[in-house]
Amino acid sequence: MSDTMSLCPRCAHETIEHITGSPVPGVWEVLQCGRCLYMWRTTEPARRTRRDAYPEEFMLTPEDIGTAPEVPAVPPLRLPGTGAATR
Ligand SMILES: [Zn+2]
Repeated sequence: MSDTMSLCPRCAHETIEHITGSPVPGVWEVLQCGRCLYMWRTTEPARRTRRDAYPEEFMLTPEDIGTAPEVPAVPPLRLPGTGAATR
């Protein structure tokens, strides 16, 4: 295994978690980055699984992750008969 296999393809983090593996052991694994949560299967193409082949425009830096906008919360359900009609 080369060095780049142990790095997250997207953010180069070194803590990679083993999520699951193939029913027949040793065929593939699903791995996830502990920092940016990128997840991939080891049998996907190099551009999805290797830092040195991952498309540059999709790479993240720790700064990118720190300044990423918060994912908006799901608002509470509107009760029937309340709220403005929008349709
Ligand atoms: Zn990552």
